[in-house]
Amino acid sequence: MVANRGRDTKPERALRSELHRRGLRFRVDIRPLRGLNCRADLVFPSERVAVFVDGCFWHGCTVHAERPRRNSGYWNAKIDANIARDRRNDAVLTQASWCVIRVWEHEPLHQSAELVEEAVRVRRSRPEFR
Ligand SMILES: [Zn+2]
Repeated sequence: MVANRGRDTKPERALRSELHRRGLRFRVDIRPLRGLNCRADLVFPSERVAVFVDGCFWHGCTVHAERPRRNSGYWNAKIDANIARDRRNDAVLTQASWCVIRVWEHEPLHQSAELVEEAVRVRRSRPEFR
């Protein structure tokens, strides 16, 4: 029914190759912050940009918000917990001066790539991230 959450989903791979094509280099599937149990899909360590490609199902996309009717209590609790964890991680990372970019897997590739490229460019223009 639902593919398990994991690295290397199709939208992730597409975003990675698009960013590569644009000349950007980054780390894949690592923890941006030591001590925080949170892996980002793409990490730009010197610019401190962490990119998450959020799956619509697991992260509770409101455009594709359809949740399973069977075992709805279980799924609602699970997805709500994922969303809460995402927000906590965002807060901790932002506090540590990371720029957190979240794109939905349903977003057009060009748009997501643009967002990431722009964030990296902005960071590079600031002396503290050079
Ligand atoms: Zn969606």
